[in-house]
Amino acid sequence: MIYRSYRGRKTAALGFGGMRFEFPEDIDKSAQTVLRAFEKGLTYFDTAPGYCGDKSEIIMGTAIKEMKKTGRPFTISTKSQKKNGKELRAQLEESLRRLNVDCIDYYNCWYVLTMEDWESRKTGGAVNAILRARDEGLIRHAVFSTHLQGSDIRKVIDEGFFEGVTLGYSAVNFPFRQEGIAAADEQDMGVVVMNPLGGGIIPQNPDFFDFLKARPEQSILEAALHFLLSDERITVSLVGFRNDEDVDSAVAAVDSFVPYSTEDVSAIRRRVEHDLNAMCTSCMYCKGCPVDIQVWAFMETWNHLKLKGGQPSLLNRLKYHWGVSIADLDACIACGQCENACTQKLPILKRFEELKTALADF
Ligand code: SF4
Ligand code: SF4
Repeated sequence: MIYRSYRGRKTAALGFGGMRFEFPEDIDKSAQTVLRAFEKGLTYFDTAPGYCGDKSEIIMGTAIKEMKKTGRPFTISTKSQKKNGKELRAQLEESLRRLNVDCIDYYNCWYVLTMEDWESRKTGGAVNAILRARDEGLIRHAVFSTHLQGSDIRKVIDEGFFEGVTLGYSAVNFPFRQEGIAAADEQDMGVVVMNPLGGGIIPQNPDFFDFLKARPEQSILEAALHFLLSDERITVSLVGFRNDEDVDSAVAAVDSFVPYSTEDVSAIRRRVEHDLNAMCTSCMYCKGCPVDIQVWAFMETWNHLKLKGGQPSLLNRLKYHWGVSIADLDACIACGQCENACTQKLPILKRFEELKTALADF
C-alpha cells in the first residue's frame, strides 16, 4: 500500500468508496468487504447518507465495530447535503450513531454544485453547523465535496472554511478540475478523488485508453490508478468497491505502482486535452427531467459515439441497454435543467443534436 499525509495524518492512497456495494441489503457480507480492505491496508473509508439504499453508513458502522477492536488507525468520511444548519446537525448526529463513532474524521459539505448552491450552504447555516460541530469535537476535519469547475473550487477554497476537498477526477474529466486541485495543494489541503475510473468508461474502453499506460504490461485499471497516484497532490483515490474481488484487484494495482515520469504524465495530459472533451460519468445527477428524458442514457451513448464513432450498435445500446429511443429527444423543451444539474457541466443539448445527426442514417 502507498501512504500519503492528509493534514499530517498518515492515510492510505487507495480509499474505500462505499457507494457501490453489490448486495447492500446483506449488511454483514458487505461489512466483510470493508474489513477485507482494512486488512489489506486501506485506512480511508468514505460513505454518505443515502448511498446504496441508505445502507452504506450502516454497513460501515458494522465494520467499524470490528475495526476498533484491532486498535489500528482508520478514518471515516461522510457527508451532508443539507443547507439548513439544524437539519445538517440532525443528519450528522444520525451519522455518528449509525457509524458507531464519537467523532467523524472528515465531514463533507456535500455536493456543492454551483456558486449559488455554495452561497445557500452559508446563508442556510450548514457551514456554521459544520464548524460548530468541529469545535465541539464531533468532527475532526471540515471538508467539502463538489462538482464545481476548477476556478469555482478555488473560490470556495479561498474562503478558508475547509481543510480538504473531495472531487470527481480522472483521465476523463482531468482538464476540467485542474485548477481546483492546484488551489487545494497551495493551501496544503487534502485532496480526495472520487470516480478515478471515469464512472467505468476507462476500464470499459481499454483500447481507447491504452495511452494511459506507461508500460505495456500494465492493465487498464493499473494505468488509470497509476496515473492518479503519480500526482502527489492527490491524497486519496476512492474506488467504489462492489465486493472482495474489486478490493483485491485495486489493491494489487496499487501494489504494482511505479511512478510515472514527468514525461509520461505530460504525454498523457497532452493526449487527454487533445482527444477528450469532458465525458458523462453516468452519475445520474441529471435525473428529474420534466418530460422524463433519461438524459444520462443519451450522454453515456454519446461517450460511445465519441470513442467508437457513429454505428448502428449505438441505436441498439439505447434500445436494449437503456430502454430508450433516439425519438425520445423530440420531447425535449430545452429547459436547461439537466445542464444545470450536470456534475460534468456537459453541453447536453448540443450533444443531443450530435447524437441525432450521427444516428439519423441508421
Ligand atoms: S433540457 Fe430537455 S432533457 Fe434537459 S431537463 Fe430540460 S427537457 Fe429534459
Ligand atoms: S449527463 Fe452529467 S449529470 Fe447526467 S449522468 Fe452524465 S455526467 Fe452525470
